[in-house]
Amino acid sequence: MNASKAFVSVPLCPLWLRFFLPLFLLALSTTIACKEVPLPAATPSAAAAAAVTKSEAAAAPKAPPDNAALPQIDAKRAFQYTREVTAFGPRYMGNEAHKKLERYILDHLKGDQVEDDAFTADTVEGKFPVRNIIAKFPGKKDGIVVIMGHYDTNYPLRNIGYVGANDGGSSTAILLEFANQLRVAPGKTRDGYSVWLVWTDGEEAVSHWSDTDSLYGTRHLAEKWEKDGTLKKIKALMVMDMIGDADLNIDRDTNSTGWLLDLIYAAAEREGYQSHFYARAGPIEDDHIPFAKLGVPCADVIDLDYGYNNVFHHTAQDTMDKLSPKSLEIVGNTILETVRMLDLR
Ligand SMILES: [Zn+2]
Repeated sequence: MNASKAFVSVPLCPLWLRFFLPLFLLALSTTIACKEVPLPAATPSAAAAAAVTKSEAAAAPKAPPDNAALPQIDAKRAFQYTREVTAFGPRYMGNEAHKKLERYILDHLKGDQVEDDAFTADTVEGKFPVRNIIAKFPGKKDGIVVIMGHYDTNYPLRNIGYVGANDGGSSTAILLEFANQLRVAPGKTRDGYSVWLVWTDGEEAVSHWSDTDSLYGTRHLAEKWEKDGTLKKIKALMVMDMIGDADLNIDRDTNSTGWLLDLIYAAAEREGYQSHFYARAGPIEDDHIPFAKLGVPCADVIDLDYGYNNVFHHTAQDTMDKLSPKSLEIVGNTILETVRMLDLR
């Protein structure tokens, strides 16, 4: 594929093509937005809250106040990971930089319970080795919370100086920081659900995005987990993608599960980060789709407004200078808080 085609190709970026129309409609009418985005029990709207009089509030049974400490990731460290991952250069399936990055991820998981899901993908551009890396942090509660993020970059963009700082870099890094936060003393287990971190491979298309040219790693993993019974144990699956943009606006993906999106919003609210969430809504295709199709509660945590009109997405301009440690902190703390709230359910 030539570079100019890669720069302008809409089929290469079907996400925002599919995104555009619903966004436009939503922007036109907040009434439609309210209808299409039903408010959850977990996050009553300001209007609904205001409607409750003082006496009604006193009479209603109240949940005890949640005074738990807020999670705090090391955002500087997460940003440094992003820088180091990006410095490997183009990291498409099977190339030398991809192999170096695999080793880099594994080096950061020494002492953790790590598994591989490796296979060969047969694509329109030939065969590629694909390797999902899974780190398991066991918990006392029966059930699994999965957090995913892809670490590959685009094969068609391999010769344009594309380094995917946000798209591929930020997702790899935030998962490494989650591993730091989830690690408990040797021989001990988490109090809540088991948490599995998955660095997914082959998320990107090798030619033009389609159902068969995309999501190579997660389509394979979803099938595997369906066969071995893992899927039934998954309480929630959250995908991190393009979460480093300094101008952070996490989209509300309508292909995701409503209650889980709402729980993430409630977690963000608890941290005071809610202004960075859900200003726009629309359907997004990402690593959660193969699992969502099989009934797993899923949330795609993604900011698909990367630069004005998403102009940095899948271009050589996806570089570190567009990113901020604060954005990693907002998403990181929110997702860890979501895990804590899931543990309480
Ligand atoms: Zn991408």
